[in-house]
Amino acid sequence: MGEDLEQLKQQLPLLDYLRQQNWIGQRAGQGPEFVGLCPLHPETRPSFYVNARKNLFYCHGCGQGGDLIRFVELSQHLSFRQSLAYLERQSAVADPDAALRQASVFYQQQLDRYPMARRYLEQRGVRDPALIQELQIGYAPGGSLRRHLLAQGYSLDLLRRTGLVNPQGHDALYQRLVFPCCQDSRIVNLYGRSIGTAFAHRFLPGAKGDLVAWESVRQFPSVILVEGMFDLAVLWQAGFRHVTCSLARISRLTSFVNSATTRAPFISALMSTQTAAANRPRRL
Ligand SMILES: [Zn+2]
Repeated sequence: MGEDLEQLKQQLPLLDYLRQQNWIGQRAGQGPEFVGLCPLHPETRPSFYVNARKNLFYCHGCGQGGDLIRFVELSQHLSFRQSLAYLERQSAVADPDAALRQASVFYQQQLDRYPMARRYLEQRGVRDPALIQELQIGYAPGGSLRRHLLAQGYSLDLLRRTGLVNPQGHDALYQRLVFPCCQDSRIVNLYGRSIGTAFAHRFLPGAKGDLVAWESVRQFPSVILVEGMFDLAVLWQAGFRHVTCSLARISRLTSFVNSATTRAPFISALMSTQTAAANRPRRL
């Protein structure tokens, strides 16, 4: 609890929080102190001081002082526990990782609402509901994620920075089955496979993560690498769990092989002839 509290206060410094709440403070001298009108009561002469280094406030007008949580207790009229929950929500909506996680959950919830998405999965041979859940397969209909995440408190600016929303303000993924891309079990990107006529493969900008399910697959002495998510899903469904997938990022395999220094399974590439030549089976 104590550590979490410190982490929360570091993630959301008191001065940043106050500025988010439109508090205007001027530097008081050369040090880390800022002064402005007290947000806790009406006043005309500034008596509210914030020490940015110590992350503390003190008001000479009302005599109140303390840290970020104390300030939230006083300004929002919440208990200590409620203030913590409130601040956790505040810091989560500023976190790009949380936005990606929420987007993935939202897309998974859409899958059953769009028969065309289910039909496409079936056509590709993926039928097992438990597997669909395990692979966290979702569907992006387009036009509804932005509204959903804004309602949860995420800013449009953050959604643009993650690439979930494009510079024009529209959902980036449209009519695509969506698979989360993970790095060390953390979602770092989303891969969208078009079910329509648009370009087949689409990622959000930024890092694309590990080979699919690498943390579990790497435990096998020998591993099969396939190009597409549907190849992986169908093989997993048939019981072949030692299969990973490059998500059509062939150049990734070379860089991955070069960087692998830990436990080294034997990788066989099962790919179209075009790309197989560049990725002959090799021992890491
Ligand atoms: Zn005051």
